[in-house]
Amino acid sequence: MSISIDQSKCIGCRRCHDVCPGTLIKINEDKKAFIKYPKDCWGCTSCIKECPVHAIQFFLGEDIGGKGSKVHTEKVNGLIRWIVEFPDGNVKSIDIDPKESNKY
Ligand code: SF4
Ligand code: SF4
Repeated sequence: MSISIDQSKCIGCRRCHDVCPGTLIKINEDKKAFIKYPKDCWGCTSCIKECPVHAIQFFLGEDIGGKGSKVHTEKVNGLIRWIVEFPDGNVKSIDIDPKESNKY
């Protein structure tokens, strides 16, 4: 599991860098985030929830979403919307209330 960062969207806020428990994300000279050690990412998804411009996507394994699928989050009215994009172009989303995330 790992993430991809769309540097064309990145605004260099460093939130992903600060939240990553493995200090895997670095900021380059152009103030763009990149993951330096993708093989060490254990998929905690903290960075994708922190990114304010939805520049980070998380690759889903075949067993939990289909090979080639990617997920990112957006904050909508206090909820976290998990948005899965499938290779065939389909998109599915799930809204989770962070205050009751263990009840989903
Ligand atoms: S998913 Fe977690 S471990 Fe992986 S890069 Fe993001 S914050 Fe770091
Ligand atoms: S959180 Fe998003 S915008 Fe901020 S540095 Fe990371 S990728 Fe760039």
